[in-house]
Amino acid sequence: MAKRDFYEILGVEKSASAEEIKKAYRKVAIKYHPDKNPDDPSAEEKFKEAAEAYEILSDPEKKQRYDRFGHDGMNGGGFSGGGMSMEDIFSQFGDIFGGGSPFDSFFGGGRSRVRKGSNLRIKLKLTLEEVANGVTKKIKVNRLRAAQGVTFKSCTTCGGSGQVRKVVNTMLGQMMSTNTCPACHGSGQIIDQRPAGVDSSGLEPKEEVIEIKIPAGVAHGMQLSMSGKGNEAPMGGVAGDLLILIEEKEDDLLKRDGNNVIYDLYVNFIDAALGTSLEVPTIDGRVKIKLEPGTQSGKILRLRGKGIKDLNGYGKGDQLIHVNVWTPKKLTAEERKILEKLRDAPNFKPNPDKHDKSFFERMKEYF
Ligand SMILES: [Zn+2]
Repeated sequence: MAKRDFYEILGVEKSASAEEIKKAYRKVAIKYHPDKNPDDPSAEEKFKEAAEAYEILSDPEKKQRYDRFGHDGMNGGGFSGGGMSMEDIFSQFGDIFGGGSPFDSFFGGGRSRVRKGSNLRIKLKLTLEEVANGVTKKIKVNRLRAAQGVTFKSCTTCGGSGQVRKVVNTMLGQMMSTNTCPACHGSGQIIDQRPAGVDSSGLEPKEEVIEIKIPAGVAHGMQLSMSGKGNEAPMGGVAGDLLILIEEKEDDLLKRDGNNVIYDLYVNFIDAALGTSLEVPTIDGRVKIKLEPGTQSGKILRLRGKGIKDLNGYGKGDQLIHVNVWTPKKLTAEERKILEKLRDAPNFKPNPDKHDKSFFERMKEYF
């Protein structure tokens, strides 16, 4: 059978540009796609013919030879002389239809998709001090790693192509759908032999010590992620992530409020009246503070910069000291006598200063 002219097959002029040739081929390929024409055996012939024509006309060197010598120039010289397999034609489609084409899923996209290993999750309990300043922790993690001594063979389900095809019904009629092979997940290979302890994807659990840098200022419930430190992927894919859930240990003395730290200080009313100096705990150890004579219960003292470093680098919080004047609950006879003497002393009558803050104002400061 005499071969038809390649330009005629695609329906373009000899002067057509590369883009015009591509566009024309796209049209013909869709029209004669065998999956769209299951009852027309000549469609497949035309489909193959168009693919062959496009293979020549899309290659500048081959096109030039064809233009000069016609079909005779196509024998030898690196050209197979027709007879493209369906496999070859389908592999051509990636270039023709590009990404985003509605035909991608029908004409096979996603060949040899990269598999990702699963994520690993751990909980990390931190003290307030570790939260405040940041910390580097060494954590033992049981990760799935690619095992040694595993041998592979070509996948028996897909024959090594990594893909399986099936016919699906669509709005355009019956189409060929190409899916990743469920047996080898697109790698085209399955495990032939594996040592004991290695799972069916060629992975084995291995204990590993991972250094985790926790930045200052993290909070309870936050999740940090270390990419590539999760389980490795079967068949040399990309390792999953290590996800670190932050938990804060409650501190006995110091309570966190955002980036501030709150400490409840209890003093007796004599220290509050006379003034004193005393030590209070902070994140960075004990610090001496001065209590002014006449300090009222409910007063809030501020230790600047003694709080928690901001996670985003906006400075540091403060420590707020909430002064509570402690009232004795039990008294000896002697203590009672002394206090009774003071009861009617002129300066012991409550006499709130107009400038003192009311309960309401203090509440507003707090919340
Ligand atoms: Zn397979």
